[in-house]
Amino acid sequence: MSRVLIVEDEQHLADGLRFNLEAEGYQVRVVGTGEAALEILTGEAPLVDVVVLDVMLPGKDGFTVMAELRQAGQFIPTLILTARGHSDDVLKGFESGADDYLAKPFDLGILMARIRGLLRRREWLSASLNHVPAPPPEPQDAFSFGDKAVHFDLLELRVRDQVFPLTLMEANLLRYLIRHEGKPVSRKSMLEEVWGLHENTDTRAIDNFMVRLRRYLEDDPRQPRHLLTVRGVGYRFVAHPAEPEE
Ligand code: CA
Repeated sequence: MSRVLIVEDEQHLADGLRFNLEAEGYQVRVVGTGEAALEILTGEAPLVDVVVLDVMLPGKDGFTVMAELRQAGQFIPTLILTARGHSDDVLKGFESGADDYLAKPFDLGILMARIRGLLRRREWLSASLNHVPAPPPEPQDAFSFGDKAVHFDLLELRVRDQVFPLTLMEANLLRYLIRHEGKPVSRKSMLEEVWGLHENTDTRAIDNFMVRLRRYLEDDPRQPRHLLTVRGVGYRFVAHPAEPEE
């Protein structure tokens, strides 16, 4: 039985979510503040498989909670509930480390589908951690370049013997760049094609993601060799840079 932690201060909404999730066979726990959620999730055995996190909370907001969780090394799949699907909020959520988002008011069926999607990821991940053969989502859903490999199914970037966990959003962005290997990709197309954001969004938000991705996959993030800036356009991914690596 999968366990869902709902972080929501609006009692009627929390009750509705609990009712519907329990009807689907989930074990549900509800807390009303970010502080309470952090206490559970950064504790020794959180016993939570997926988190539904509201943004507007008393005390610490959802973005802060999200960021603190990831900083603490807690990578439980988390979906944030943003207000009105504001593009800036969505980006802020991704930047703080969320795996997925849904704008309020949301369709219950869609929320259920998103939760199932996040749990599927988690099952693959835990199966691989326990060395149990798991059914791969796609054959060879990985990309290797040099001594690095992105495992999209496991949400991991492996650099030699180091493993960096990726959020779903980071993985999707990386996949998009890799798919366009060698070609410049605009910030706008990343926002639209990867995250489905068509509104007038501040395209510089993409840059924060690049800073993070470079930290993972560049030997020297200040002198990137794989994730190159294309002035006035955006970025370009190069799998095999010309000069030999130091
Ligand atoms: Ca709220």
